[in-house]
Amino acid sequence: MATHQLSSSYYKEPGPKLDAESPFESMMERFRFAADVLGLDDGMFQYLSSPAQQVIVSIPVVMDDGRIQVFEGYRVLHASVLGPGKGGIRYAPDVHLDEVKALAAWMTWKCAVVNVPFGGAKGGVRCDPKTLSQGELERITRRYTSALIEVIGPDTDIPAPDMNTNEQVMAWIMDTYSMHMRRTETAVVTGKPLLIGGSKGRREATGRGLVTVTLAALNKIGLMPNRTTTVVQGFGNVGSVSALLMHELGSRIVAISDVSGAYHNPDGIDIPAAIAYAREHRNSLEGFAGGTAISNAELLELDCDVLIPAAKEDQINKHNAPNIKAKIIAEGANGPVTANADTILDEKGILVIPDILANAGGVTVSYFEWVQDRQGYFWTEERVNRRLNRMMRDAFNLVYGVKEQYNITLRQAAYVYSIKKVADTLKLRGIYA
Ligand code: NAD
Repeated sequence: MATHQLSSSYYKEPGPKLDAESPFESMMERFRFAADVLGLDDGMFQYLSSPAQQVIVSIPVVMDDGRIQVFEGYRVLHASVLGPGKGGIRYAPDVHLDEVKALAAWMTWKCAVVNVPFGGAKGGVRCDPKTLSQGELERITRRYTSALIEVIGPDTDIPAPDMNTNEQVMAWIMDTYSMHMRRTETAVVTGKPLLIGGSKGRREATGRGLVTVTLAALNKIGLMPNRTTTVVQGFGNVGSVSALLMHELGSRIVAISDVSGAYHNPDGIDIPAAIAYAREHRNSLEGFAGGTAISNAELLELDCDVLIPAAKEDQINKHNAPNIKAKIIAEGANGPVTANADTILDEKGILVIPDILANAGGVTVSYFEWVQDRQGYFWTEERVNRRLNRMMRDAFNLVYGVKEQYNITLRQAAYVYSIKKVADTLKLRGIYA
C-alpha cells in the first residue's frame, strides 16, 4: 500500500494550529488513508489535495456610524471535477483561509458520496455578525458577492448558508448577482426562501436524510426501528428533525439535549412536546420538564441503540470513546467524532455513519433546489422527500458495499468511494494542457 505525505498546499497559511483531534486534520487523515487504500498515484494525490482556486477579497463597507471598515472574504473551490462548486458561506470572527480550504475539500467528498454532480467549495467572511446591524450585514454580503461576481455562478460555484448565514443572506446574494447579470438568476445560490426559488423540504432535508441512512444501518444489524432506543445531542435543525422522525418510526428517544443541558427519560421523551417547548422558549430546551436533567457528557455515554450527535464537532474523542454504549452513531454534525476516537469505536464494534454520508441530505436537496431553479418547475414536498430517500439509500448501499469489499469502516469506505469517484472521473477527463 502506498503512503502519502500531505501536500504542502494545505495548512501552509498562518492561523490556528490544527491538531490530530481537530475536525479538519481528522478529515485530511481520512483522505490520506483512503488514498493509500486506493493506491492513488502521487500526481493524483497532489491534484486532489490542492484546491483548484483560492480567492481572497477585500470588502470595504460604510458602517452605520459613517466609518469605512474593511473585512476580508474568502471563496475556495477545491475541485470542479464532478461539476460546479458547491458549499456554504460562513460569517465568523475567526474564519481563516486554511479552515475554508479544508471545508471546501470536505464538500468535494460529501457531494461525491451522495452522487450529486457538484464539486466542493466553501466561503467565508471574517466578521462578527453579533456586532453588526442588519444594514451592515446586507452591505457586507452585497459587496462580497460583487467582488466574487466572476467566481460564483450557477455553472461555476453555487454558495449556500453555513454558520451565521441564512435564507436572508442567500436572498441578498441572489439579488446582487441578478442585478449584475441584468436578469434574475435564482440558481446561483441554494438555501433561499421559498418565495424566490427555494425548495420544499429543504429545512428538514438533513434530518430526513440522516434518518434514512440510520434505518438502512439498523437493517444491516438486524434491528427494527420500533424496538430501538435513540439519544440525540443538539436540538436545532438537524437534531430536532432527526429526533421527530425517529420518534415517528417508533424508536424510544431516551435523551435529548441542547446547549442548556441534557434531558433524560428512560420511558421515552415526548418529542412533539419538546419541539413545541423549544419553539415557545426561543429555540431553547432550558427548563424542559419531560426528562431528568443530566449533562451533555453523560448523555453521550447513555445506553442506547442509536446515538445522533447533531450539535458540534469533537464531541466523541479519545477520552469518552471507550465509554460509548450505542450500537450505531449517525453523525448529524460535521466532525463530531475525532480520528482518534474512530479507532476506539471500531474496536468496540460500533457502526459509525460518517458525516459526509449521514448529513448529506442537506446538500442533496440543495442540488434539487438548483435543478428546480434551472427547470423553472417546482416539485411537491412528497417528490423531494421520495427522491431524497432514494439517493440517501443508494449512497448508503454503495458505501456499505465498499466497506465489505475492503473490510474497512463505513467512514473509510465513504472516503474511498468518493475519492475513487473523483479520481476515476479525472482520469476520463484528463489534464487539460
Ligand atoms: P442549529 O444551530 O440549528 O442547532 C445546533 C444545536 O446544538 C442547538 O440546539 C444548540 O443549542 C446545540 N448545541 C450547541 N452547542 C452545544 C453543546 N456544547 N452541547 C450540546 N448541544 C449544543 O444547527 P444545525 O443546523 O442543527 O446544525 C448542527 C450541526 O449539523 C452542525 O455541526 C452543522 O454544521 C451540521 N450540519 C447541518 C446541516 C443543516 O442542513 N442544518 C447540514 C449538514 C451539517
